[in-house]
Amino acid sequence: MNCQDSDTGWLLRVRNLTKIYGEPIATSVQYTGPRFNSNICPETDAIVACAEINFDLYPGEVLGIVGESGSGKSTLIQLLYFDQVATAGEVYLSALDEAQTNLLTLSNQRKRHARNTLMGMVYQNPRDGLNFGFSAGGNIAEKLLMAGSFHVGRIRERAAYLLGKTEVPVARMDHTPSTFSGGMQQRVQISKAIANNPPLLFLDEVTSGLDVSVQARVLDLIRQLQRELGVSMIVVSHDLAVIRMLTDRTMVMKNGRIVESGLTDQILQDPQHAYTQLLVSSLL
Ligand code: ADP
Ligand code: MG
Repeated sequence: MNCQDSDTGWLLRVRNLTKIYGEPIATSVQYTGPRFNSNICPETDAIVACAEINFDLYPGEVLGIVGESGSGKSTLIQLLYFDQVATAGEVYLSALDEAQTNLLTLSNQRKRHARNTLMGMVYQNPRDGLNFGFSAGGNIAEKLLMAGSFHVGRIRERAAYLLGKTEVPVARMDHTPSTFSGGMQQRVQISKAIANNPPLLFLDEVTSGLDVSVQARVLDLIRQLQRELGVSMIVVSHDLAVIRMLTDRTMVMKNGRIVESGLTDQILQDPQHAYTQLLVSSLL
């Protein structure tokens, strides 16, 4: 697939993205997936966490990925954020080398730079996204430093601004996240993720560990920031209520594959795949 084959205007283009944990063989992809109701290669026990993943994401668009636990949602965004190394595939960002370079082939140094300047990630578990040995401000400063900001005063000012923006009391800037509530920890992660104004954000089950009332407030904040910043987002959740609230378009995953995709409203109103119908019926 040449990245310039078809329509333009996209921010992120993903082609044939695949991740296999363990020993793959030539038929691992062929003999796994929804048809077999399994992501485990019958010959080698390798796990085909995701395969044959194709989609484009447009500027300002919010794309949801929904599916049951183990369907490959986290792996998919971890591949894009370079937390995991892909087994195969092509990924292009319009903001990098004018979309001429497959991101998966970048040197580690260039991957780090791309991840720090063009992307942000908010993890389900705040300990995956924050260093609990640093203060809240220190965690944000880390992301700013990685993108080349070195002026201490300006870094502190920006960290305070971001904490305010995500409704974390600025007076808590020098406290460590371990002294924060779960909702506040997620807000600090969001501050860090948007610190360098990246065009692309990944959110992985960011409200799953929170009380329902806190969940609603964090979801509101995400929606508000998305509108204000115009950032593109990929929102991973097993919860269709979260997907309904945040996303424009949705991909449904099962056994490491996309089984259905379309406008979120359409998927909720008229799900085509039996598995999606089951998910939607559980929402009612
Ligand atoms: P989801 O986020 O949808 O729950 P994951 O992407 O976490 O799914 O997992 C997809 C599949 O890959 C699961 O079968 C899971 O057990 C497996 N998996 C995830 N991470 C690893 C890993 N680091 N090593 C081996 N298998 C993994
Ligand atoms: Mg997950």
